[in-house]
Amino acid sequence: MKVVVIGAGYAGTIAANRLVKKADAEVTVVNPRADFVERVRLHEHIAGSGTALTPLTDMLDPRIRLVVGAVDKIGDGTLLLADGTSLPFDRAIYAAGGAPTAPSGTYVVGAIETAELARQALADLPDGAAVTVVGGGLTGIETAAEVAESRPALRVRLISEGEVGASLGPGARARVRRDLDRLGVVVERGRYTEDDGAGLVLWAVATQVSDLAARSGLAVDDAGRVLVDEYLRSTSDPRIVAVGDGASVPGQRLSCQTALPQGAHGADNLARELAGEPMKAYSMGYTGQNVSIGRRSAVIQAARRDDSPTRIQFGGRSAALVKEQVCRMAKGAAKTARYAWLPAPR
Ligand SMILES: Cc1cc2nc3c(=O)[nH]c(=O)nc-3n(C[C@H](O)[C@H](O)[C@H](O)COP(=O)(O)OP(=O)(O)OC[C@H]3O[C@@H](n4cnc5c(N)ncnc54)[C@H](O)[C@@H]3O)c2cc1C
Repeated sequence: MKVVVIGAGYAGTIAANRLVKKADAEVTVVNPRADFVERVRLHEHIAGSGTALTPLTDMLDPRIRLVVGAVDKIGDGTLLLADGTSLPFDRAIYAAGGAPTAPSGTYVVGAIETAELARQALADLPDGAAVTVVGGGLTGIETAAEVAESRPALRVRLISEGEVGASLGPGARARVRRDLDRLGVVVERGRYTEDDGAGLVLWAVATQVSDLAARSGLAVDDAGRVLVDEYLRSTSDPRIVAVGDGASVPGQRLSCQTALPQGAHGADNLARELAGEPMKAYSMGYTGQNVSIGRRSAVIQAARRDDSPTRIQFGGRSAALVKEQVCRMAKGAAKTARYAWLPAPR
């Protein structure tokens, strides 16, 4: 059986690696570049404190064929690639993930192409220049802190329409604010305007996903995520399993904590199908959130399985070590295909 995996992020990479381990399938991965992008490290990539890139040949099982290219359209059992070639499939795993956009003149944090440009633009900024980070979610917090820590002579401002760190509990939120203060990040409530005046604007609002599914005619939700059944199969084409940021799974948050179990479960279900066994319904419960505050601090927020924050949270250097381990574990899970998770709450 020919299986193509569209996108080699966290969801697609774990799915492909897990499938070749569990089933006798011919697996091909299509991805626009030959690197695995650790999106959770893009703020480090921008600040120059780390890299988000690992060659995909180091991530994918040698039995997997890698095609470097972009899928332009998903047809009836065929993928049409941007270079005009096509790839037939019996089953496909849709893992095209996030595709954040931003107003002109600003740099998207959540995409490697713009993160690389932002890294250069930041390196070129003279001391004393102003940097604005737009978005008070975890990505915005991590980006503002990382830039402020690596370039203390810059003036860093974090601007957010809503409360900064709104997904965290009050204790963790207060901790984040103290850490940002310590790094000299000025936090403002408000909306970004073009006359912002900063030397560099980093756009850390990353909710948009690839429009590939919508433009291919698959059934999608308002945001363009593939509508799936309880087995993670597209409701309009059951040959396609959708996983990660690009899948519309009720109650799920865009994260690798979501992408990894979905990728693993999607692959397991295809392996079951190939073995003539019934598929299993997808179920997943959360454990918490973690946000880096530069390289030396972080905030860890424990959560109930429904993703609501508990009162348990901690920060500082020990939290930074935990956060680093979580990032390594996420990449390691994608590579080894070994991952265990909690079921959803009843
Ligand atoms: C700075 C930052 C920090 C983050 N921190 C955390 C964190 O601490 N914890 C956490 O859980 N989550 C975090 N996230 C969110 C997390 O990174 C995403 O939710 C996760 O990457 C989703 O994985 P995915 O595999 O679904 O999609 P992606 O990682 O977006 O991968 C999608 C892949 O598909 C490819 N693709 C796209 N279009 C096509 C096409 N047409 N044809 C072929 N391939 C295509 C892309 O190039 C990419 O390789 C963070 C995100 C950012 C930006």
